[in-house]
Amino acid sequence: MIFCRTYEELRATLDPVAKNGEEIGFVPTMGALHQGHAALLERSVRENARTVLSIFVNPTQFGPKEDIARYPRNLEADLKLAEACRVDVVYHPSVEDIYPEGFSTFIEVEGVSAPLCGEFRPGHFRGVATVVFQFFSQVLPQRAYFGQKDIQQCLVLSKMVKDVRLPVELVLAPTVRESDGLALSSRNRYLSVEEREIAPVVYRALQAGTKLREKSVPAILAEVQRVLAEAPKLKPQYVELLSFPELKKIDTLGPEGGVLAIAAYLGDTRLIDNLILRG
Ligand code: AMP
Repeated sequence: MIFCRTYEELRATLDPVAKNGEEIGFVPTMGALHQGHAALLERSVRENARTVLSIFVNPTQFGPKEDIARYPRNLEADLKLAEACRVDVVYHPSVEDIYPEGFSTFIEVEGVSAPLCGEFRPGHFRGVATVVFQFFSQVLPQRAYFGQKDIQQCLVLSKMVKDVRLPVELVLAPTVRESDGLALSSRNRYLSVEEREIAPVVYRALQAGTKLREKSVPAILAEVQRVLAEAPKLKPQYVELLSFPELKKIDTLGPEGGVLAIAAYLGDTRLIDNLILRG
């Protein structure tokens, strides 16, 4: 496994790979890796000659009130997991390698980035689209792997790739969960023992909503809210059922289906999860 700290090191490693015509699979992450990341890495290793993992806590996707310094970091453990997944290249750049001095180019994907997390985290998807665009142009992958847990992120990036005709295939992989249904997340380590016991209510609420998929959207949302209310310590930020993949308001589920999505706070920890409902 080759470890690259700079753009120059990355290109020196990947130029011969590209010259050989070997396909590159890319998994961008913010580190503090878990089995959700491992699933993306293993899939990339299966489907590509080479796999590149990036570890970069991206400052532009954090809001002014969101504490980037508090984001978990554990490079040593990340490298062990990457090695076990048979990753070929780990790219762990500095902020200057991604945002060189005077950087002033940003990617704004309108529409699909507006609802859900876009409403509560202004500028978040602008930061995500910009950093992923920058990584795509540095790594030049044939395929890139993203988790359904961050469905809106996937939809924003897939619109970006389509709009500007980037020659990269996006692969959407299923959400990896704990045995009680909680979606794996780097932020779960912040949950207290009590909060960890409460957290699976988010997935239970999504499942309860899925069972009512024949009903109207307000009826489905009421059921999701009812289940969430069983855990008074959980503070929902949004509960929505929007069209897939445009994320527009709907009254009933059409044949193209919808995204049932929840964001909620447990103490200081923000949990998000979603299910794609087929009509
Ligand atoms: P992050 O490091 O949180 O930015 O996530 C990096 C990638 O891993 C993103 O594509 C996420 O959607 C994906 N990911 C995070 N958690 C999970 C999970 N529980 N299951 C599947 N993919 C995940």
